[in-house]
Formats: sequence, C-alpha cells, structure tokens
Amino acid sequence: MAVGFYNFKELHNEELQKEVLARFEDILKNNAFVEGKYNTSFEKNFAELIGANRCLLTANGTDALEVGLQAFDVGPGDKVAISAISFFATAECVVNRGATPVFVDVDEETVLMDPASLERVLKEHKVKAVIPVHIYGLPAPIEEIEKICQSRGIGIVEDGAQSHGGKYANGKPIGSSSNLVTYSFYPTKNLGAFGDAGAITAPTQEMSDKIQSIRNHGRSPEGHKLYGRNSRCDHMQAAVLDLKLTSFPAQNENRKVIAKKYFEALKDTPLKLVPEKFLELSSWHLFPVRLQNKEEKYALKEHLDKSKIGSALFYEKAMPEEIPCQDLAGEKEKAIAFAAQTLCLPMNPFVTDEEIAEVVKAVKSFFA
Ligand SMILES: *Cc1c(COP(=O)(O)O)cnc(C)c1O
Repeated sequence: MAVGFYNFKELHNEELQKEVLARFEDILKNNAFVEGKYNTSFEKNFAELIGANRCLLTANGTDALEVGLQAFDVGPGDKVAISAISFFATAECVVNRGATPVFVDVDEETVLMDPASLERVLKEHKVKAVIPVHIYGLPAPIEEIEKICQSRGIGIVEDGAQSHGGKYANGKPIGSSSNLVTYSFYPTKNLGAFGDAGAITAPTQEMSDKIQSIRNHGRSPEGHKLYGRNSRCDHMQAAVLDLKLTSFPAQNENRKVIAKKYFEALKDTPLKLVPEKFLELSSWHLFPVRLQNKEEKYALKEHLDKSKIGSALFYEKAMPEEIPCQDLAGEKEKAIAFAAQTLCLPMNPFVTDEEIAEVVKAVKSFFA
C-alpha cells in the first residue's frame, strides 16, 4: 500500500470545493478583490483561536517576517539573531530589510533555539531583533528567550509558519505571547490557502496600526506616513482560509493523535524521536525522525521510496550551509549535525491506522 506524504484529496474534498466556489461567486458579484469581508472575519477568528490581541493578514509568510522586522524598525546596518534550523525565508527576511543575520545554534535535543547559544551570540553582536522558530510545530523556549531579550530591549519576532494551533511550554497557544508572531498559509502548512498568504499577530493596538500601515504602502488616516510595501492579502485567499478555519481545530487534533501513534510504535526502534514532552504541545506540522548519520538517512529514504512511502528531507542542509549564508557569523554546529541526520515521515490530518502500520512496518524492516 502506498502512503502519501500529504493528502490534498481529502483536505480539499468536493464539499469544501463547492463552498469555496460559492464564496468566489460572491466575491465576483461584489468586485471586492483585496482586503474584503472575509479578511476581516478571518483576522478576528484566527486571533481568537490563537489567543492573539490582533492578527493581520499579509501576502505570504516571508512578508509577515519582513513586516515584523520593519515594525521593530530593523533596517540597514542592523543585526538580527536567527535560529539556525529553519526554512531559508528566516534568513531572507533579514537580508531583504538590509540587515545581517547572525546564527544562533539549536538545542541538541529539541532542535529549537538554544538560549545559551543566544546569550553567547549577544555577547559578540549587538542585535536589534531575534527570530526564534517553532520548527516542525515544536514550541521554542520563549520564556527563556524573552528573559534574555527584554532586559536588552531586543524585539522578538516568532516564526510560527509551522506552528498554527501549537502550544508553548506553559500550555498557552502559540500566538498569545507579547511578541510578534508570524504565520504562513502556504498550501502545505497546517492551515493553507489556495495559493500564498500569511499573517502576523500584534500584542497592542499601536503595533497593529503600525503593521497595518506597513503592509499597505505606509497608509494612515493622515496619508502615507512611512515607506511600507504592498503585502495585502487577496480576498479569495482570505475566503478560503476563513472557511478552512472551521475544520482546522479538529484536523490539528488528528495530527496529534497520529503523532502519538507513531511515537508509541517507533520509540523502541533506533530512530531518535522528538522529546516526549512535546507530544501535547506541538502543532505536528511534520513528524521528524533522526538517524545516526547522513548515509543512514539516505538509506532509509531509499528504503521508504521503494516501499512507496512518502518521506521528505526538511532540511537537507542547515541554513548556515546554504550558499548565500556561508559567510554569516554565529553558532551552527548542532544545527548542521541535525540537518544531516533528519528525515520526515508522512504527516497530515488524514493518515489512517493502516497507513501508520505500513510506515512502521517499513521502518522496522529497514533496521531488521
Ligand atoms: C513556510 C515557511 C516560511 C515562509 O512562508 P511563505 O508563506 O512560503 O513565504 C517561513 N518560515 C518557515 C519556518 C516556514 O516553514
């Protein structure tokens, strides 16, 4: 039996398609193409779900990061400390603001930004903002990072592109902190549009007004007050997101149930799994497993490919190893080791018990 990595057939089933088309017709009738009523509705509903004061849609998740950095006035000459395990966009957003990324290494066990590494990096670099990443849906140690940053007046932009519906270590929803938190609604994320979209949360009205202005050409009631950008979200994407938000909590619950089943079935294999304490907290965007080394990782990938089981290498290289990042300063040793050893198993809200059994069987036969 083949097991797919994603399952868009179930996710975007016929019933959903019908409802989406009805919303598209409504948008066409009203000629409301950008920032319409579904944007307002989604921003309110999503903020409520994640416990954020305000949520503002953007054109994509990378823009949300850039807008967040601009909201903290990050610009040319500034440095921004970023987690060394993330998608490339986490470095890109800094460079596109004219600033320079500095890497912070990850904790060996959790793969999340290591506060001790952050402390060391801050001794050598004057940094204006920090981007911790809730990678794979696991919560970065935000209280520790806040303690380090707040006394030094450093802004925190949490990259939550993979963590919709996840929880911090204290059990509160990711998005409810006093920092800026960014989201991506790229179609493969836990909550996805029919194209590109993103969002950023704001803890105060003042930050919300500033972000609103940045995403829409610096507009304010008094005219254009700053050089912003166009990062508005299309009404059609907001209509899809607002609709999909209804089934999103149940789907995220499914991911957790699936992750727990994988965990039970695989914990006695040689694979190194995500620490057990994250079972209840993660949004389970992905289910990463760690091998001894690169050779073993590629061998397991090949074995899974032959068994027709979808797997993916997020991230084949750590960010500091990517060509444009190779000269950047900071700490990266553990991130590089982690990237070399890690592979992700099929994870989506619709993985069945039979599919889990098939994946587990293939993994066990690899080690047999
Ligand atoms: C997907 C992703 C992004 C970028 O989001 P886009 O919507 O593709 O621009 C940024 N950071 C992380 C960690 C991501 O997974």
